[in-house]
Amino acid sequence: MKMSNMLISTLREVPAEAEIDSHKLMLRAGMIRKMAAGVYNYMPLGLKVLKKVEDIVREEMNAAGAQEFLASAIIPAELWQESGRWDAYGAEMFRLKDRGERDFCLGPTHEEVFTDIARNEIKSYKQLPLNLYQVQTKYRDERRPRFGVMRSREFVMKDAYSFDKDQKGLDISYDKMHDAYVKIFNRCGLDAKCVAADSGAIGGANSAEFMVKSEVGEDDVVFCTNCDYAANIEKATAKLEELEKEELMEAKKIATPDSRGINEVAEFLNISPKKTVKTLLYNVDGKIVAVFVRGDREVNEVKVANASNASGDIEMASHEEYIKAAGCDIGFAGPIGIKVDLILVDEEVKNMYNFVVGGNETGYHIQNVNYGRDFDGTVSDFRNVTEGDMCPDCGGKLTIARGTEVGHIFKLGTKYSESMNANFIDEGGKEKPFIMGCYGIGVTRTMASIIEQHHDENGIVWPLSVAPYHISVIPVNVKDEEQVKVANELYEQLVGMGVEALLDDRNERAGVKFKDSELMGIPMRVTVGKKIGDGEVEFKLRDGEMEVIKISDVCNIIKSEFEKNNMKLK
Ligand code: ATP
Ligand code: MG
Repeated sequence: MKMSNMLISTLREVPAEAEIDSHKLMLRAGMIRKMAAGVYNYMPLGLKVLKKVEDIVREEMNAAGAQEFLASAIIPAELWQESGRWDAYGAEMFRLKDRGERDFCLGPTHEEVFTDIARNEIKSYKQLPLNLYQVQTKYRDERRPRFGVMRSREFVMKDAYSFDKDQKGLDISYDKMHDAYVKIFNRCGLDAKCVAADSGAIGGANSAEFMVKSEVGEDDVVFCTNCDYAANIEKATAKLEELEKEELMEAKKIATPDSRGINEVAEFLNISPKKTVKTLLYNVDGKIVAVFVRGDREVNEVKVANASNASGDIEMASHEEYIKAAGCDIGFAGPIGIKVDLILVDEEVKNMYNFVVGGNETGYHIQNVNYGRDFDGTVSDFRNVTEGDMCPDCGGKLTIARGTEVGHIFKLGTKYSESMNANFIDEGGKEKPFIMGCYGIGVTRTMASIIEQHHDENGIVWPLSVAPYHISVIPVNVKDEEQVKVANELYEQLVGMGVEALLDDRNERAGVKFKDSELMGIPMRVTVGKKIGDGEVEFKLRDGEMEVIKISDVCNIIKSEFEKNNMKLK
């Protein structure tokens, strides 16, 4: 591409709307432009990178035996009603009506559509296993679109759906996708880690996320400092501390007139918050659920939602609901005698001795309370892991880091095939529901994440595999005929070799050209200047030192860069 023919939209200033580096650089390099909140136009440079990432995704999906498909983004409501998600999906779904008042949505994801395709097209076990994928635009009316294409309302996703005749088949399909994802993110130059994830209320399902460690990530990921354990905080668990055994003492009501919060109560009684248990009340689809965790712990709402079969996100109970359940002011609710629909007790509480709880009476707490003797409920893990907790696998120290989810693999089982009656005929002639898996990659989010991991103060530093162009050829002085001639020849030669080259033939100062090339993150640069008299040019890797090389060596150096990156010239 000759830059004189190109729409170049680089910006010197940092746009005020952008908070994180990738967003700033995508705007500054002229890759994207905002049209509305969370809605972006892809400029030529951005589109080139997007296509490169898509191509890597396609190559690895095809290599894993998946077949590309393209579904419509407009989906009739009936399909979502069949699965029960038309109502459950809530405000995140963009909904529309046609001229005949029929309901549609713009697909936020495509489980229903692919289940429908499978039930229409696949009749027999002989046609299984099958994995269909698409690279397609998705629509989600996110509550907080932000960080540019990291969390946008229109984005490109690769979504794949596998259909198997049994669980064993699904395990194989799932593992293949896991391996393909590892290759995809590697080839994109992304350091992404596969971590265990929550799979919602679907019993027995398995799910993992590919997370990129990042300070601007919106997820908390728990890692073991000693072994490979890694899990999203929604899912992560910790080994319980062994507590020293104590004699059970007699429970006793005590006046705590001005102490409501756990810290106040602990201070007032001069005990550690670890000797207290706090009460949180939730409204889950109209039912009141009480959750009890150690005073210094945080409740894990995902675990609570799963245990109470919530249809979606859960809410704290209202003030009135609290008073009705506990019969007292906020701050004094406790487990003994509370009137709720479900009691969830964190496993740690079960192991504690003689702790303090709210008295369900304004101004009072109860001392020396013990699970089993004084109250009971459903015991499981309902707390968040905290820094320094013990790894559930090896007992090592757990640490927490921020991460961005770039991919998700999920064993769905029969969730959709059962609700949508998607069956095949098995070996014995019996009808059975498909065993399904679904696998997503945020293609546009991947692009932004690559920039988060590959940039410096001068701009983007693209890995060669996804760079919009491989090299820029820069004649220093476009008024110098000889320089222009050599640069042109070099450019033509490179293009002929299959290198995606940019020729910066603009009538600009060399400094401006260097700046643009660096901002746009072009991995290699050849500068054609005064040294051509000696048959020499300057060569620089985007993240390397400048060297003077023979013009005749340029092609070989470029070839070796391709080899180093395991890439072939086309
Ligand atoms: P998140 O928790 O970040 O909202 P999600 O769980 O809703 O993600 P999935 O439904 O699993 O995401 O979608 C598959 C992939 O699509 C995600 O791994 C992510 O990379 C990408 N993705 C999801 N929402 C967005 C968005 N609003 N903008 C850009 N990419 C997105
Ligand atoms: Mg989401």
